[in-house]
Amino acid sequence: MQNQIIREEVRASQQTAPRRVAVLGATGSIGQSALDVIAASDGRLTAAVLTAHRQTAKLAELARRFRPEIVVVTDPQADRAPLAETERTTRVLYGPDGLDLAVSAPEVDVVLAAIVGGAGLRGSWRALEAGKTLALANKESLVLAGSLLFDLARKTGGRILPVDSEHSAIWQALASCRPAATPYGASDSGTSGGKDLVRRLILTASGGPFRNKPLDELERVTVAEALAHPTWKMGKKITIDSATMMNKAFEIIEARWLFDLPAEKIDVMIHPQSIIHSMVEFVDGAVIAQMGTPDMRLPIQLALCGMERRPGPAAPLDWNAARTLELLPPDEERFPAIPLGRRVARDGGSAGAVVNAANEVAVAAFLAGKIPFHKITGICQSVLEHHQFEKEPSLERLFELDRRARMETQTWISD
Ligand code: NDP
Repeated sequence: MQNQIIREEVRASQQTAPRRVAVLGATGSIGQSALDVIAASDGRLTAAVLTAHRQTAKLAELARRFRPEIVVVTDPQADRAPLAETERTTRVLYGPDGLDLAVSAPEVDVVLAAIVGGAGLRGSWRALEAGKTLALANKESLVLAGSLLFDLARKTGGRILPVDSEHSAIWQALASCRPAATPYGASDSGTSGGKDLVRRLILTASGGPFRNKPLDELERVTVAEALAHPTWKMGKKITIDSATMMNKAFEIIEARWLFDLPAEKIDVMIHPQSIIHSMVEFVDGAVIAQMGTPDMRLPIQLALCGMERRPGPAAPLDWNAARTLELLPPDEERFPAIPLGRRVARDGGSAGAVVNAANEVAVAAFLAGKIPFHKITGICQSVLEHHQFEKEPSLERLFELDRRARMETQTWISD
């Protein structure tokens, strides 16, 4: 896998033809950032496919601007009227089958998976099945089915490149000791050389809006307060996940699969400034950190360009301003999602699918005013405790477990 990755990066940097990108979830926060990167790439990147779920008017506007080969509306019930004009010049596909077709189209070199939640797994799966390079923002794909996705990538020659800022930082830090270190997917490399050089990964976390809030006030926080992230501007679901730290739990699981390291070697540090995006501590005691402004356009660009460094739209750090960078150990009583994430990363099997489904339903219930904020993680823990663990579920079985866990979570919400 390591040689494959290096070949991919060399190929990306030598390729003169534009890299054709399928942006899954083009109407979302990551989708928008990706389109900024494409627009600023001087033709190096083009948008070959754009997808949306319901925001068809926004999709039509993006299609006018970026002129993709194909657009897909994944919700078959979505309003099609705004796309009437688009249909004259562009192939417009509908529903999950449309997504399958677009992702595997020959016009696509790289698939950016930026659909939110477990719904993103289908696109990730189809991309790897077609042997494409998958730039993965949708961390839920790995939470649900990390083991199966890497098995699939090994079979088809598909590649998974990290987009999440923390995992991109680790990818960059690991590159500092190539060729010995294996940046990700080491499980299939047949060597343990890369992994042996890593003492631990340190994922940084801003701590979200409630880092210092007295614990007994957490039950009264409002949706607006939970959506007010101090450093990152993101979609609603991941913003709530950042406030509960379920996002960091998912990132532990994501790192476990991407870098093939055990949960015990993946730590979390609170870093309120969100300048250090994550770090790798090596066996000699050296720690390599990657820093930059909190702007997803940087890791997106790096993944779409196969680690080639180019000028881009992300603003550089202002080195004229004095700044303090803090690093603090996380309070696991305040954020029980962190030990939960470590446990799921350790257990694997069906645990990820169940906790992901429970979290999606609980977050939606909080956003709808049905449960208080502090119950979100507790509900996820309860659903996980009550499910019958399965060690090696198939993809179909994972979808079934996902469906059941969603129903089970509803009963905890109604209690
Ligand atoms: P948003 O909510 O902003 O956007 C979600 C996108 O997914 C939209 O294009 C939406 O379409 C589409 N979508 C929603 N539901 C479905 C569905 N059931 N099937 C297909 N498409 C659907 O999310 P973000 O951009 O914030 O996050 C996207 C992913 O990236 C998440 O997995 C998140 O964890 C990850 N990520 C996000 C970061 C960020 O900074 N935002 C940082 C790191 C990772 P429509 O608009 O038409 O409804």
